[in-house]
Amino acid sequence: MVDFDDYTIGDHRAACPVCSKTQRDKSLGITILAYDHGIARCFKCNFIQLRREQRELSPVEKLAYQRRMEALRRQHDAEQRQRHAEVAQAADVRWKAAVPADTHPYLSAKGIQSHGARVEAGHTLLVRMTDVQGHIHNAQSIAPDGVKRFMAGGRVKGLYYPIGRPSGRLVVCEGFATGATIHEDTGHAIAVAFNAGNLLAVAKSLRTKFPCITLVIAADDDWKTEGNPGVTAATEAARAVGGLLAVPNFAGLDRGEKDTDFNDLHRLTGSVEVPA
Ligand SMILES: [Zn+2]
Repeated sequence: MVDFDDYTIGDHRAACPVCSKTQRDKSLGITILAYDHGIARCFKCNFIQLRREQRELSPVEKLAYQRRMEALRRQHDAEQRQRHAEVAQAADVRWKAAVPADTHPYLSAKGIQSHGARVEAGHTLLVRMTDVQGHIHNAQSIAPDGVKRFMAGGRVKGLYYPIGRPSGRLVVCEGFATGATIHEDTGHAIAVAFNAGNLLAVAKSLRTKFPCITLVIAADDDWKTEGNPGVTAATEAARAVGGLLAVPNFAGLDRGEKDTDFNDLHRLTGSVEVPA
């Protein structure tokens, strides 16, 4: 809920109490006209709150707020483009300054090769995030203990990290280690989409770039998480692009709670397959 007493008369912006994931995501427009007359409205999720709960908006007010929300959306989009451009430039600088990763604790822990990933400042593994044209927009850093981060404020949607050269078949998966494992065991080209929420956008971008290729979406099987977000997102992505779905099969294995992806499966079996 919005506390209108925090705001002076005029227009303000704030994070939406319903849909904003960070304080930076100021999708809420707040307009205070008088001490008891104000409205907060989110242009993303249409959350709306009136300062005086019972009051109805007049048609003129509705129109005015509609216009204000549209202006706010345009402003928000322009700011986001600007932030994305700044982060893209910074990612490019970091990537160029990093050196090829010969060894790294994360690579050893996962039992994988580096596949072009780099090391920054002697300790952080860096995985660049590019669009289908190969332009860098962001970077995922992986600390020696495996903690992963994107660059704050940067674009993520539709970005991926390619491993290998696609020929007939291209596998889209969530994590870098998962992609490295599938590539090493099967020889298939990989697009690492970084998380479940990005599988669909990456698959769609790749479908546009490679209209005739067979896309395989390799799911993380989040078997202990309600709704299994990994399999759910992978299924949706596979359907959307006419692709195949591959789910790691742990049947008959001594599976731990955190064993969810093809890298975990490889650790238990020594090798993985993705449907041919
Ligand atoms: Zn909202």
